[in-house]
Amino acid sequence: MKVFRDPIALQQELRALPESIGFVPTMGALHLGHRTLIDEARRDSDIVVVSIFVNPAQFLAGEDLQSYPRKEEADRRICELSGVDYLFYPDVEAMYGSDEVWVSAPDVRGFILEGYSRPGHFDGVLTVVLKLFNIVAPTRAYFGKKDAQQLALIEQMAENFFLHVDIVAVDTVRDSDGLALSSRNVYLSDVERREALKIASALKHAGKMMAQGVRDATRLKQEMQHIMASLEVEYIAFLNREFHHIDQVEIGNTIVLIAARVGDTRLIDNMQL
Ligand code: AMP
Repeated sequence: MKVFRDPIALQQELRALPESIGFVPTMGALHLGHRTLIDEARRDSDIVVVSIFVNPAQFLAGEDLQSYPRKEEADRRICELSGVDYLFYPDVEAMYGSDEVWVSAPDVRGFILEGYSRPGHFDGVLTVVLKLFNIVAPTRAYFGKKDAQQLALIEQMAENFFLHVDIVAVDTVRDSDGLALSSRNVYLSDVERREALKIASALKHAGKMMAQGVRDATRLKQEMQHIMASLEVEYIAFLNREFHHIDQVEIGNTIVLIAARVGDTRLIDNMQL
């Protein structure tokens, strides 16, 4: 596995390769969710590139940029063992100057839910993803459905900017008890972790009710809210695949999204139907 810190050097090296490139952008502290993205990339492409970059542009003031888990050695080892060919590990200075051109999230889809709770977050995400795509020039890039709105906006950016890359969506990987894996789960105490499980339970319960024929989003939300009563729920949203709010569930065209705080930790999860 080759490790690069310099974007231009990596760009030149990858540009010279004739093979297909599967790319997995991450912020590190790698877990089984990330490894599943890497495995899918490994299956589809000749060369696998992983980036690890805790992108300051997507953190708001007061968020966990400083304390975000950084595990360089363990991450390197995981990448090596997962058959990654290139690991890109840039410094902030290599990625950003002082006065930069910026990508702006779309007005509607970019400003609801996470965009509303974390204004500017998606501008930072889209900007860094565009930079990374231009450095790596991947054939395919892999993103988790766990971050459903991020995935939708990256798909939209690829379309709107006519990017030459296939965006591949990967199912959310969960612990055996249902908790969606996240680098931020390390912040949770044992008690908080048990509390956090209520997010997955609420989704599961809604899934069961929908399987029994319940279609009314307001009723489903009330039941979910009840299960998560001890959490600070930021939103429970029922959207269609176009990311428009819906009152009635349409099987095959509905995504249920949750953001909630457990102690100081903000967690998101979703379920697609
Ligand atoms: P992050 O390092 O949190 O920025 O995540 C990097 C990529 O891994 C993103 O595309 C995430 O959606 C994806 N990812 C994170 N957690 C999971 C998970 N539990 N299952 C599947 N993909 C995930």
